[in-house]
Amino acid sequence: MLICGPCSAESEEQVLETARQLKELVAPDYFRAGIWKPRTRPNSFEGVGEKGLAWLQRVQDELRIPVITEVANANHIEKIAKYGFSAFWIGARTVANPFSVQEIAEAAKGGKFKVFVKNPTNPDIDLWCGAIERFKKMGFDEIIAVSRGFYPFAETKLRNLPCWEIPIELARRMPDIKIICDPSHIAGDTKYIAEIAQQAMDLNMAGLMIESHCCPHNALSDNQQQLAPIEVKQLLNSLKIKSSYVNDRNFEIELEMLRNKIDVLDYQLLDVLKQRFAITNEIGEIKKSHNVAVLQIDRWKKVLESRSEYGERLGLSRELVAALFSEIHKESIKEQSDDLNIR
Ligand code: PEP
Ligand code: MN
Repeated sequence: MLICGPCSAESEEQVLETARQLKELVAPDYFRAGIWKPRTRPNSFEGVGEKGLAWLQRVQDELRIPVITEVANANHIEKIAKYGFSAFWIGARTVANPFSVQEIAEAAKGGKFKVFVKNPTNPDIDLWCGAIERFKKMGFDEIIAVSRGFYPFAETKLRNLPCWEIPIELARRMPDIKIICDPSHIAGDTKYIAEIAQQAMDLNMAGLMIESHCCPHNALSDNQQQLAPIEVKQLLNSLKIKSSYVNDRNFEIELEMLRNKIDVLDYQLLDVLKQRFAITNEIGEIKKSHNVAVLQIDRWKKVLESRSEYGERLGLSRELVAALFSEIHKESIKEQSDDLNIR
């Protein structure tokens, strides 16, 4: 599925010219454009409002591309219904507010809308699932999740972190919900969009929402990340679309063999972990009998440093080893504290 169009509708010419080029070059399934723009700070471009709906209606009627826009309240639903839209999306900021999501779901109830739910900006999987559930409960059966990245708390080259483990967890919890990716808002810069889009394809996501503007540099919002329609075509041509299944006996046998090896190693890992916890519990006992504090920060620093270094020599990333041992250490401290009754 391809959803493509400008971040915002700015003028009738910009909307129609972008849609015309996109139709010719990439034939998107939906033409997107923001009409009401939720902005972090006031005084930035907040969208053209209702008059833009008539421009999108022209795209739908004259170019025959279904259109989609962001809604943030019940009033927006009423307006898009009046203009004959068959789809809408809930933005990353709105999805974080269950009152708003509920209000939108109730207002849209009974309408034949396809509903796209972006993830919230904070990496809270329950909030994302919760919003999807609110639409399910109102009887919508075409709900699609849009993975648009998460607010990075540290400086990164990307505008938002993809945190792929979160959409993967969503797919595990809600296997009937299709997930597409919005690489434009993850990247924040045109130069990273292709690599993010490829990663989404490697994860077998069901489609892409890409921002495209007929004159990206003049865009009134998100001008760093909008591609010209011809660049969208180049990006799509460069993508390697992977299939989730291949009918090849040799491949299946090889995969099965390697997975068996992984299974054995995973059980070994768990056995070793169990042995390790048995020892930390013993340590807990002797700390208790000698009235010694559970947390020994110097020992922990040494463990973390030596394991990270050893892991690095094996070719494992320091972040992985540190994260793994932090979890193990946290659990050991918890167990030893249980013994000491100080939780
Ligand atoms: C958008 O799609 O233009 C937009 C504002 O997205 P998000 O809600 O993901 O920030
Ligand atoms: Mn945008």
